[in-house]
Amino acid sequence: MLHARLSPHLKKLAKTCPAIYRQFVPSCEEVALGSLTIADPLLEDAHTVIPGLIYKYGNRALVLLTLNCAAYCRFCTRRRKVSDIEKGIITSKDLDRIVVYIEQHPDIKELIISGGDPLTVPSLLKKALQKFTRLPQIKIIRIGSRLPVANPRLVNQAVLSALKVVRRQPLYLMLHFEHPAEITKATIQAVRRLQSVATMLLSQSVFLRGVNDNPDILYELFSSLIEIGVKPYYIYRCDLVQGIEHFVVPLEKEIQIMTELRTRLSGLASPTYVIDTPNGTGKIPVPLNFWQFNKESFVDFLGNRIINFPNQEEFKTVNMNFVQMIEPKIPVNFGDTKRDKMC
Ligand code: SF4
Repeated sequence: MLHARLSPHLKKLAKTCPAIYRQFVPSCEEVALGSLTIADPLLEDAHTVIPGLIYKYGNRALVLLTLNCAAYCRFCTRRRKVSDIEKGIITSKDLDRIVVYIEQHPDIKELIISGGDPLTVPSLLKKALQKFTRLPQIKIIRIGSRLPVANPRLVNQAVLSALKVVRRQPLYLMLHFEHPAEITKATIQAVRRLQSVATMLLSQSVFLRGVNDNPDILYELFSSLIEIGVKPYYIYRCDLVQGIEHFVVPLEKEIQIMTELRTRLSGLASPTYVIDTPNGTGKIPVPLNFWQFNKESFVDFLGNRIINFPNQEEFKTVNMNFVQMIEPKIPVNFGDTKRDKMC
């Protein structure tokens, strides 16, 4: 079960911004076991080859370095395991095993380091990068993080020093943003610090009901990101994960929003809108309304036909509950737990 944690930075923002409150404050909707969702729709557990390493695609592999984050997003795709920090601990021995596995699979050219948030464990990240970047077969390093949003002050010298280990390969940082209110002065400063050590900063977002399912909000988000030097890369349809059904936006609405945005944003500021296939084969770009297409189904990378979208009626039911739930109960006493102090 995903624990609750907000950083002091987010607590402050959540007091005045319902979109941030909704992302980080637990809701009783999470306990609803929707018939449309499962715990691990991307089949990551089935593709875990050794502890901490997921290998699904030929030329790249995913390292889950930690299950710790500075704040826990209620819509986390890995909510089945994220925040269970003890279980997610990767030891030096595990890192060595990962290295051996990579060496035995010379097709792996790119490592994607994620979690949890790898930037919250800078000394472990440094150790891992020292081992991974020495491998001649590794040509690209990608690291996912939400730290500049969750707790920008933690983007500190220890983090920069860990990232500086990557010298031979290009280093792509994939930063997670959902709403323009997340781009604060402190976050921009954290982004600037990361720009001093990375090859390129890109953003990833997820469509979230009640947070960013609005063309003006996303217009502001993507315009602001490109202005601070972060290229909007992907916006995902929310994965059908148990406990987050109340965040899922109707597909038709997402397509309408992205179609409108494509007429307003430059190509540079436009992310690719994708669905991560429920059988874990890859990210399928969704066509926009400039084309006529069948919105009921699509095929994955293996050619399998996938029909997995709840119909509009089912969404209406979810939506009615949702309207009652998003009313922010502000001022909020978030309760300073021991976990909060770890942020
Ligand atoms: S920062 Fe990423 S890994 Fe952590 S809770 Fe949010 S979405 Fe999940």
